[in-house]
Amino acid sequence: MEGAVDVVVVGGGIIGCSIALELRARGGFDEVILLERGPFLGDGTSSRNSYVIHAGIYYPQDSFKARFCVRGNRELYAFCERHAIPCLNTGKVILAFSQEEIPILERLQRQGERNGVEGLRIVDERGIREREPSIQAAGALLVPSTGVFDVAQWFRVAEGLLYEQGAMVLKNTPVVGMEPKGQGVRVETRTRGKVLARFVVNAAGLHADDVGNLLGNRFRIYPIRGDYFSLAGKKAGEVRGAVYPPPGDLGLGIHLTRLWDGTLLIGPDARRVESKEDYGPLPVFDEEGNLDPESGDFQRFFAPVKKYFPAVQERDLHLAHCGIRPSLLPPGEKGFRDFRVEWDRSDPRVLHLLGIDSPGLTASPAIARHVADLLAERAG
Ligand SMILES: Cc1cc2nc3c(=O)[nH]c(=O)nc-3n(C[C@H](O)[C@H](O)[C@H](O)COP(=O)(O)OP(=O)(O)OC[C@H]3O[C@@H](n4cnc5c(N)ncnc54)[C@H](O)[C@@H]3O)c2cc1C
Repeated sequence: MEGAVDVVVVGGGIIGCSIALELRARGGFDEVILLERGPFLGDGTSSRNSYVIHAGIYYPQDSFKARFCVRGNRELYAFCERHAIPCLNTGKVILAFSQEEIPILERLQRQGERNGVEGLRIVDERGIREREPSIQAAGALLVPSTGVFDVAQWFRVAEGLLYEQGAMVLKNTPVVGMEPKGQGVRVETRTRGKVLARFVVNAAGLHADDVGNLLGNRFRIYPIRGDYFSLAGKKAGEVRGAVYPPPGDLGLGIHLTRLWDGTLLIGPDARRVESKEDYGPLPVFDEEGNLDPESGDFQRFFAPVKKYFPAVQERDLHLAHCGIRPSLLPPGEKGFRDFRVEWDRSDPRVLHLLGIDSPGLTASPAIARHVADLLAERAG
């Protein structure tokens, strides 16, 4: 890999791929190279999550998260339909377990409406039973625009489109160096040499801090892990859509997500971990290799779900995957952190995307358009 190109995008997750697609689709940048350190596109967080197309209710008005999520929701459904990617507009219910929790739903409804989410409605105990007969709660906020999509198929389609549109995609190509050089930025990779870029977009997800720090920044991303169990078969079929408890401090609470193939995902939880590569299985098996329902990690999932889905039995659950959120929230702190999309302080040709945690999948088409606007504006 030698010579000069218009744009190098670092990171082949849903954000990097969407940006490269957008840049090629609208023109103006002839050579776009996407560099992915792993062996396939979507090797990071983008393939390890709940696959939910969120509505956009949880985030403060006018935040990037609110704006990009609400816009991205519509665009992602449209993209999936255009390219025959399995997706399902299941809708979602956010539960209140007592009358005292109804004001939480009212707050979320107001927040969602301010963000432009349509069709939100609070129902009582009877209303929730009509919609989700197997779920027990005192009331619920109905969120009609929530759904799920097949992320693995999204990446197959995106990779085909990238080739078709003339973007160069290089896998197994970690970026290990960046330095300003004349009119551009010299990007060094471990496996394929160096390339001079007019612009660099840092979309390295969990490692966007490491990549950004190659230019002398002091970014810091904190990994927060989430695990899942799954449930298939008849019991899974008792749940019609996504079922969420009221949101917690670090995540959205242990919830149920009905996928396009009928599987029910249970989780994720939210737990700080030291390492960004901490993908080992939860210690929930006994010496014979059977799931141990007495283990603390198992009960952390089972107990809250049993509370609102009483038919579920311990033997119904199977350990599934886990994912790690690239959070900007330091340990000990609570509260909202928005996505950061910002030009490098010392090099005006490098754009960083930091803290793209949930709802990053949903927001991806809108983030891509925003980034393409920023690049076009700067290119003049
Ligand atoms: C448990 C969990 C549940 C979630 N659920 C949802 C959900 O239901 N809906 C939703 O909208 N969002 C959800 N999210 C958030 C969503 O998954 C992320 O926001 C999104 O995947 C981020 O995409 P990305 O492209 O920024 O990151 P990634 O997918 O991590 O992509 C970054 C890529 O950069 C590559 N990379 C890293 N370093 C380098 C380097 N030096 N050189 C080259 N390449 C490099 C990595 O290999 C990786 O492929 C969830 C996240 C988690 C963890």
